[in-house]
Amino acid sequence: MALPRSVIDDLIPGLSSALGSDLPVTSPIDGSQLASLKTDSAEEIDAKIFLSVKAFEAWRDVPGPRRGELVRLFGEKLRAHKEALATLVTLECGKILEEGRGEVQEMIDICDFAVGLSRQLYGLTIQSERPDHVMQENWLPLGPVGIISAFNFPVAVWAWNACLAFVCGDSCLWKPSEKTPLTALACQALFDEVAKDFPDAPEGLSQVIIGAREQGNQMVEDKRVALISATGSTRMGQEVGPKVAARFGRLLLELGGNNAIIVTPSADLSVAIPSILFGSVGTAGQRCTSTRRVIVHRSLFDQVVETLGRAYRQIAGDRIGNPLESSTLVGPLIDEAAYLAMQEAIERVRPLSLAIMGGSKATVQGCDGGFYVEPCLVTLASQPPEIFQETFAPLTYVIPYDTIEEALEIHNGVPQGLSSAIMTTDVREAEFFKRRSDCGIANVNIGTSGAEIGGAFGGEKETGGGRESGSDSWRAYMRRQTSTTYFGKSKPALAQGISFDL
Ligand code: NAD
Repeated sequence: MALPRSVIDDLIPGLSSALGSDLPVTSPIDGSQLASLKTDSAEEIDAKIFLSVKAFEAWRDVPGPRRGELVRLFGEKLRAHKEALATLVTLECGKILEEGRGEVQEMIDICDFAVGLSRQLYGLTIQSERPDHVMQENWLPLGPVGIISAFNFPVAVWAWNACLAFVCGDSCLWKPSEKTPLTALACQALFDEVAKDFPDAPEGLSQVIIGAREQGNQMVEDKRVALISATGSTRMGQEVGPKVAARFGRLLLELGGNNAIIVTPSADLSVAIPSILFGSVGTAGQRCTSTRRVIVHRSLFDQVVETLGRAYRQIAGDRIGNPLESSTLVGPLIDEAAYLAMQEAIERVRPLSLAIMGGSKATVQGCDGGFYVEPCLVTLASQPPEIFQETFAPLTYVIPYDTIEEALEIHNGVPQGLSSAIMTTDVREAEFFKRRSDCGIANVNIGTSGAEIGGAFGGEKETGGGRESGSDSWRAYMRRQTSTTYFGKSKPALAQGISFDL
């Protein structure tokens, strides 16, 4: 199947001005080059930040519901280009087209959510202890928001951040992954088309910075960027976090996970197995919420391993392939480095394992330059520290447990805290799990991946503590101001009854 390269020109009419020799962009489908881009120079980034500040100063005074109208129109634009953008997502990051469509749908959903929010950025009125005083909590636009995103959700994570930031009155600068800059240019072009016919939208409200760590770092270190919202590996968070903290900037970190599903004796396996399968091998195991560990009650251990093994073999048989083909369930890994990291992880755990199934390189006809792998299932007698690190690939560890307390101990025993799930029909176990799971997401009879945009998304511990998308995550993009007004005529009273008389 020939790659549908025409979507690149269709979605990015101004591509020629972005071309250069700095950053070759390849498709993980077959390793072929899609384009080569110029990265932004330090001066260009400085100018973009300057423009972002100017844009913020104009945009913050546009009424919230009017800001929402721009996001509503952007959502309409996305609806009209859903298939093309989804195809580009697949072309550039290699997820199957069905998931590419899901990712663009997530952008549309967050637009709708943000439009509603634009009329609901509520503050409080607070009872004052003093007569003729009124206290309020005001939520005000924050400033330019610097968004750093990862390759595996090349468009949705930007939209989660940007759509909320726009309705909150902020401007945005986006440094996408160096592995997926074309999808970013496509989103920017679609946004520009909407903004050019929207007189209230200032120039530079949304801008893209092309580059890698160095270019992202310039934004991280610049005091003018009020909030850095960074999605990526824990290593990236460890580098970015202290720098933003040192300049007292605002920080939102969405980092790696090491997610687990607990399968209890009362689990309905017709619910559990499909959830484990999608969580482990969906997106070729390249979601931050992918299921890495399955913690199974000893009474079901053999049965679960056997059933999963059958499913993994079936996938390896004929469902690994070109992600543009509708029969494919598992597409390629992003690149050779990801493939090698998976092989290293398998070798690290091999001496500790009871059995290892799959994990070999798969051959996909017509896609010679891509890195395709059979999903790998590793059975272990207990949880070793060797699996504490996130491996961004379809590599699943199955570990037995005896008591629910022990299951939670294994579950919480890793440094990350993003997503978790329990498979149970016992309400007591379900509630115990929700209280004890140390993750930002704790699901019952639903896998670890595939969150809806309505809830706050993010995790604890080395996942970084940030929350974005739904619920009250919008607050991260605004500043809170407490305001007390005195409307009396005589000398105002002091708080705490303090008297200070001349
Ligand atoms: P990565 O950390 O290699 O890169 C992510 C982004 O950070 C890229 O844009 C990169 O250029 C930038 N970056 C890296 N180091 C930087 C630095 N020192 N200063 C400034 N920018 C820097 O991650 P990746 O391989 O693209 O993505 C996979 C990782 O992302 C996994 O760990 C996955 O779990 C995580 N992820 C987390 C979430 C979440 O919401 N928690 C979502 C998606 C992906």
